[in-house]
Amino acid sequence: MLKDSFGRTLDYLRVSVTDRCNLRCVYCMPPEGVEWKPHETVLSFEDFLRICRIMTELGIRKIKVTGGEPLVRRGVASFIKNLKKFPGIDKVTLTTNGLLLGAYLDEAEAMGALPDGINISLDALNPERSKQISRNGNTVLQEISPLLDRMLKKNITVKINCVPIRNNNEEEILPITALAKDKNIAVRFIELMPLGFAAALEPVPGGEIAALLEKSYGALTPYSGVSGNGPAVYYKLPGLAGTIGFINAISRGFCETCSRLRLTSVGFLKLCLSDDLGMDLKELLRAGVSDNELAQAITEISIKKPRYHNLSEVYCVRPSEHPDGMSEIGG
Ligand code: SAM
Ligand code: SF4
Repeated sequence: MLKDSFGRTLDYLRVSVTDRCNLRCVYCMPPEGVEWKPHETVLSFEDFLRICRIMTELGIRKIKVTGGEPLVRRGVASFIKNLKKFPGIDKVTLTTNGLLLGAYLDEAEAMGALPDGINISLDALNPERSKQISRNGNTVLQEISPLLDRMLKKNITVKINCVPIRNNNEEEILPITALAKDKNIAVRFIELMPLGFAAALEPVPGGEIAALLEKSYGALTPYSGVSGNGPAVYYKLPGLAGTIGFINAISRGFCETCSRLRLTSVGFLKLCLSDDLGMDLKELLRAGVSDNELAQAITEISIKKPRYHNLSEVYCVRPSEHPDGMSEIGG
């Protein structure tokens, strides 16, 4: 079992299979986009599978496939199919901006290898607002409702992730919440984290969103029936079939129970979202290490996971000069 020096069990791995993306969300990238990692520096699916197999043997139980936008890389359906075969894996899930989701579901269904859960990032239903945030005219909007139904029919756990930004998409909070009116999905509000390009934008605290929802729907009631990987806290609202989740990364913090490790597209095992600490596993792979040596290196570095991220007024232990944007880290 992977443990850190604070006694936390690390059983959740987020794997960013590409740093590339077909959107340029305002909190994630600059308008001109970022320079993509050269192809030869990005891990092959074979390398990702080797690392994931070893980490599963070490106690990883849940894997989230992320990006950049994971679905711009060909082969994700078969990657997920292979991940699901590892003994000990409880859940393999995917997070996506949804643009390529329909085609992905066709492929994954044909392979008989659907993920256990899919998170769709959705910051606006209004087409103009969506275009302004994602800097792309093409959005998932027109097809969102049938897509949600299609996934629910296949017993996929569906979560919508919305990042409210002050003086930007606050008006979208209620319409996005309404997606859970007659569908058993979780609509989650994530506090904007001041990483990279998001530092210039203002988050909307989760407490403020909760008050807004209670004004429209009535009291939020804590709910423990949604399975997840940690930081979200869930509630029921009167009149909603689905649930509401809050990831209050800034105002409340969630480090005490953090069980995550992150593997970037170039094979860096990252110990914390906001920190450079970690290990270049690609270097070890290229050096020809054995499975045992890789396992030992992962176990030893995992112990060094920092106690807190450094983005929040709750923790604020040291200033961050972190160079990675979210599209490289994978959220
Ligand atoms: N492209 C995929 C997507 O958008 O779902 C996967 C990668 S994206 C980096 C993962 C998640 O990180 C998205 O839900 C996105 O909204 C969130 N995200 C990106 N930058 C963020 C920030 N600064 N604060 C909070 N969430 C952020
Ligand atoms: Fe792409 Fe996701 Fe970043 Fe938006 S949040 S630019 S969809 S990686």
